[in-house]
Amino acid sequence: MIRLKNLRKNYQTAAGVVKALDSIDLEIKKGEFIVLRGPSGSGKTTLLMALAGMQRPTSGSIYISKENIYQMTIPARAKFRAENIGFVFQMFHLVPYLNVIENVALARGALSSALDKPGAKELLRSFGMEHRIFHKPAQLSAGEKQRTAIARALFNHPQIILADEPTGNLDPENALAVLGYLTDFQSAGGTVIIATHQPVAKEMADRIISLNAGRIRDES
Ligand code: ADP
Ligand code: MG
Repeated sequence: MIRLKNLRKNYQTAAGVVKALDSIDLEIKKGEFIVLRGPSGSGKTTLLMALAGMQRPTSGSIYISKENIYQMTIPARAKFRAENIGFVFQMFHLVPYLNVIENVALARGALSSALDKPGAKELLRSFGMEHRIFHKPAQLSAGEKQRTAIARALFNHPQIILADEPTGNLDPENALAVLGYLTDFQSAGGTVIIATHQPVAKEMADRIISLNAGRIRDES
């Protein structure tokens, strides 16, 4: 359901061209749990941002459910992303001046002006966050911030969750909980692509893809 064809991303820098992604070809099936690995600078974030429709590749194409996402208009791509893709970041990226329930309900913003706060509250309850819904991000622990971010990612019932080192700022217990939420999402039929070096994530993976200098080094 996801196909990357000869994907390249170059960054121009003062020191020259950085080939962040260098002819990536990849197919990912619906319901797969993919772990992306590779040293810092190998292209994991660039790949996830490209998949999310947030980073236009220099060349090549990305098909998600048969849609060539970079051939869409910008508003169409934004709508497609809101409907189909949830993104979880290492640094959470919550909106600092909104409380927890507003941060989650905001995910609906791209689809409808009516923010579904009851729906957000219900979802937050399932993450054990009911007692924190009026807290601002600065008043949360790291684990609570990431649970809020996962609730936001799941709020529009996406088909795909992309997660970029989502446990990088969490203690082991919260890290395990986050990985558990992602496996629950997969069990319900979702597709997960996660950049992580957590050893236990290997056991959850259907496939491990290692990147090195923008290329796929091996798949297992
Ligand atoms: P990873 O997530 O695996 O650490 P990234 O995708 O962040 O790797 O980066 C891949 C390469 O692209 C690195 O060499 C990085 O320095 C470079 N890079 C990333 N973003 C930019 C940018 N905006 N401008 C220039 N170079 C960048
Ligand atoms: Mg990265």
